[in-house]
Amino acid sequence: MIRLSGDGARRRLVYLDHNATTRPSEAVAVAMAASMLEAWGNPSSSHALGSQAKSALVRARSQVAALLGARPAEIVFTSGATESNHTAILGALQLHPGKRHIVTSAVEHPSTLRLLAWLERQGVCVTYLPVDAQGRLDPAKIADAITPRTALLSLMWANNETGTLFPVEGLARLAHEAGALFHTDAVQAVGKVPIELKSTQIDFLSLSAHKLHGPKGVGALYVRKGTKFTPFMRGGHQERARRGGTENTPGIVGLGVAAELARSRMREDAVHVASLRDRLEQGVMQQIGRCRVSGDLDNRLVNTSNIAFSDIEGEAVLTHLDRAGIAASTGSACTAGSTEPSHVLRAMNLPDDALRGAIRFSFSRENTVEDVDDILRILPGVVAKLREITRASREREAQLLTE
Ligand code: PMP
Repeated sequence: MIRLSGDGARRRLVYLDHNATTRPSEAVAVAMAASMLEAWGNPSSSHALGSQAKSALVRARSQVAALLGARPAEIVFTSGATESNHTAILGALQLHPGKRHIVTSAVEHPSTLRLLAWLERQGVCVTYLPVDAQGRLDPAKIADAITPRTALLSLMWANNETGTLFPVEGLARLAHEAGALFHTDAVQAVGKVPIELKSTQIDFLSLSAHKLHGPKGVGALYVRKGTKFTPFMRGGHQERARRGGTENTPGIVGLGVAAELARSRMREDAVHVASLRDRLEQGVMQQIGRCRVSGDLDNRLVNTSNIAFSDIEGEAVLTHLDRAGIAASTGSACTAGSTEPSHVLRAMNLPDDALRGAIRFSFSRENTVEDVDDILRILPGVVAKLREITRASREREAQLLTE
């Protein structure tokens, strides 16, 4: 439960939109404040203040590497996953100028899909792998898609809308067998699923701090030892010349603390979050008819529940929930406000009705049983009211047609 300030008063907010962003942990904010107020030097300066800032970077790099089961030298700090995705994809293409083909999926985040659409206009060939009704890839189709001209496979670890997990470790092996590099957008998986990169063949992994109770505008790209790439941001020699620009020291410090917290509590958080998600889904199924959970129910993030309610618009449900102090979403915050149904649910070939009535609830360790019970108190009434409006307007339409 979170308190929302506004109009001088603070009211209770039930926040269930953690795949959009998370509240920075107290320990993160405290460490960031110290970085700004005390260790505010430039990490590239050779004096004592600079060294202090540099030590903070070293520490954060180890904390992030530990969360990923990687070596500190394999972590490059960036401004977030959007930049990390750009660096991996553009870097892989530049590494193999003769290879002008990329394999991805139809359900990636816009930070990958929009870049690939732009690359297509520059003459790069892109294969978008389809998914089935549960949002799963077909391994046979992946193998068929890779050719000797394939520079990179870029496939997300966990889908931000449904939580569906792709078997990225096996996919990375497949890519390497075919002589291609492998990148995964792991924004939603990092901190939620155990990751041990040392024992995988993944070349690049993108993450964003604000999805794991860290600050916004900072993230990292894992680059496997021995995997070459060309920087996306050129400039100074920061990040061992892999990313130019004075480091966002407070942000990186915050990411480090968030990574350490996520690692130390991952197991207990997963159990807690899964129990809340299951409580919500069971309650919804019992109290509200004509709805279904989307995604691969046997293989998805413990924190994500994408529920499609028939005969209503998801946006209308959100407005009513928001008025009651409940924050959820219809899909990706990066496409919010668009009237287009989610490209992820569309790629899963869900019926039109399910596309329009989809709501994503995404939990974190900060949620409580009380939060779920609050939703279960409000949601059935909201859905019933909106369905009644739909029914009445359909009846009116039918009457007009017969008149
Ligand atoms: N990939 C995925 C799967 C995401 O969910 C997000 C954030 N919505 C991003 C990439 C982009 O992260 P950022 O906006 O922090 O760069």
